[in-house]
Amino acid sequence: DLVKIETALLSVSDKTGIVDFAAALAGHGVRILSTGGTYKALRDAGIAVTDVSEVTEFPEIMDGRVKTLHPRVHGGLLAIRDDAEHRAAMKAHGISSIDLAVINLYPFEEVRARGEDYAESVENIDIGGPAMIRASAKNHAYVTVLTDPSDYQAVIDLLGKGATVPYAFRQRMAQKAYARTAAYDTAISNWLAEDLAIDTPAYRTIGGVLREEMRYGENPHQKAAFYVTGDTRPGVSNATLLQGKQLSYNNINDTDAAFELVAEFTPEKGPACAIIKHANPCGVATGGTLRDAYLKALACDSTSAFGGIVALNSLLDAETATEIVKLFTEVIIAPDVTEDAKAIIAKKANLRLLVTGGLPDPRAAGLTAKTVSGGLLVQTRDNGMIEDIDLKVVTKRAPTAQELEDLKFAYKVAKHVKSNAIVYAKDGQTAGIGAGQMSRVDSARIAGIKAEEAAKTAGWAVPLTKGSAAASEAFLPFADGLLSIVGAGATAVIQPGGSMRDQDVIDAANEHNVAMVFTGMRHFRH
Ligand code: 5GP
Repeated sequence: DLVKIETALLSVSDKTGIVDFAAALAGHGVRILSTGGTYKALRDAGIAVTDVSEVTEFPEIMDGRVKTLHPRVHGGLLAIRDDAEHRAAMKAHGISSIDLAVINLYPFEEVRARGEDYAESVENIDIGGPAMIRASAKNHAYVTVLTDPSDYQAVIDLLGKGATVPYAFRQRMAQKAYARTAAYDTAISNWLAEDLAIDTPAYRTIGGVLREEMRYGENPHQKAAFYVTGDTRPGVSNATLLQGKQLSYNNINDTDAAFELVAEFTPEKGPACAIIKHANPCGVATGGTLRDAYLKALACDSTSAFGGIVALNSLLDAETATEIVKLFTEVIIAPDVTEDAKAIIAKKANLRLLVTGGLPDPRAAGLTAKTVSGGLLVQTRDNGMIEDIDLKVVTKRAPTAQELEDLKFAYKVAKHVKSNAIVYAKDGQTAGIGAGQMSRVDSARIAGIKAEEAAKTAGWAVPLTKGSAAASEAFLPFADGLLSIVGAGATAVIQPGGSMRDQDVIDAANEHNVAMVFTGMRHFRH
């Protein structure tokens, strides 16, 4: 069960901790083999080390593309030590065992993250490293493979105990090694897929690199980790946390929902704000100023906004920050923040502030995934934009210019509300949002109730739903949904259309002088 480390091969791009580790190995009489750059680093530090090309009797060639791809290396890693034939082969070909492989790969992911060009990216696809990692991991019955500098210390500790490594550790390192090579190949494959503009989920590899382990998942008894896919769009994965604690699982989920929603509103058309609770918006608004947009979003459902996530589409200024800190908020995410606003937020030590440097393009391609028992459902992201759709007026009355603006606004919001979604909007402000109901009529009813509560809180004589525009993210299957919407005071409706009973719904709209447009594009969100 215990294997003594007599020979180690060290070949690392990330040289963190390698000199100290090698010194400890050498101090315990371990023979060290190494490749060009690693060899040089160790030799310069005065550590006894053998160049692997002395073992292979073959030089490093082709700019390092071929350094360890040799039977003397792979035979040494793969040989079954107590198999007579394997031993005979070792003897016949001058192969000696390698018991410890310390390898980390060319930094392909970092090179991509830096946006280096195609040739540089290709050059950073490691070939010999993954081959050695996989060979060592396969032979974990005898070989220890280390792919992460944070594991060096565990081996240093073992050196003091006779330099023997227990099976359990070798197996765990093998598991970790395959996770690393799998993630590495996923990154390469997805980079090529991006370059080829392949967004067909069936041709893509789903996977990512571990970013962090969280304290817990959606609930405290669940474990969780955050993986990043290398997508460079501004957003929660690429944001900088300027203050506050590490984001929780729910924070990341909600902040993503918030920022993706607010990114639908281009800053060129004015400031916008979305407030999110449990991945659903409880208020969204555009405004003359960002402060305005925040206050209008807040007015939609100021009760639910407590403990929410605030997403902004433009530079967070002091005026807006002053308003936001009046209410308990979990996270603020914005493209950027002024120094004054930063100082105001700094007074709330627990409030997390994220800046992204920009907004993601809502039209960008990409994938979303969801797990089901025993599987993953993968689809292209919903990048349909109302601006790109030819709207069809289906009623006698066409929407007025203001109604049309509000219809589009409401439809954009509805795209980001869990189905069934009904959103009322007026003057670039959500009036009421009904989310996640099993019946569309119930969603409409809830949105109406929310609007009445908002009016009460604000002291308005009538709720904002009076004279509003209403959006339904999927078709209204019966006239009852439309009647509920009309009952709340909406004068215009936007929905995909396509129901068998469209005519019933159109007739009911005409009867109430409601203007209705069909989008032909559904925005289910479950
Ligand atoms: P060094 O800095 O020691 O010259 O190179 C270390 C890097 O080379 C490691 O990241 C290791 O994975 C990689 N490597 C080792 N052998 C080979 C090989 O035969 N071909 C390629 N392409 N990379 C290798």
